Amino acid sequence: MTYDPDNIFAKILRGEIPSNKVYEDDDTFAFMDIMPRADGHLLVIPKTPCRNVLDASPEQLAAVMSTVQKMAQTVLRAFSADGVTIQQFNEAAGGQEVFHLHFHVLPRHDGVSLRA
Ligand code: 5GP
Repeated sequence: MTYDPDNIFAKILRGEIPSNKVYEDDDTFAFMDIMPRADGHLLVIPKTPCRNVLDASPEQLAAVMSTVQKMAQTVLRAFSADGVTIQQFNEAAGGQEVFHLHFHVLPRHDGVSLRA
């Protein structure tokens, strides 16, 4: 599987389309999901081209997971959440819609389901 440099998250990284940035460092970028399934639903992506986990280098995974952990801790506090769901999909059959590696970070509250 190849990486399409015109996928929507690559365009966000290049500043060609807007996003609500939450966090950025040398290797990763975090921004709000445009169709949040929970209040505070955000996405964490590597800045370098990567289709999904199947295509990722150990360095990309380490950098992204470090930011995922930071963001999970941040939304837990910011949304007074009871827990955090971390989701990730690979290829269309695995539920992936945007083909740039991303992790969903979703603050969760006891008894509250994710929106569709
Ligand atoms: P997945 O590939 O993990 O199934 O889903 C892609 C996610 O990207 C969805 O949650 C969707 O709402 C989000 N998304 C798709 N297009 C955009 C966009 O242009 N901006 C932002 N911020 N999120 C997007």
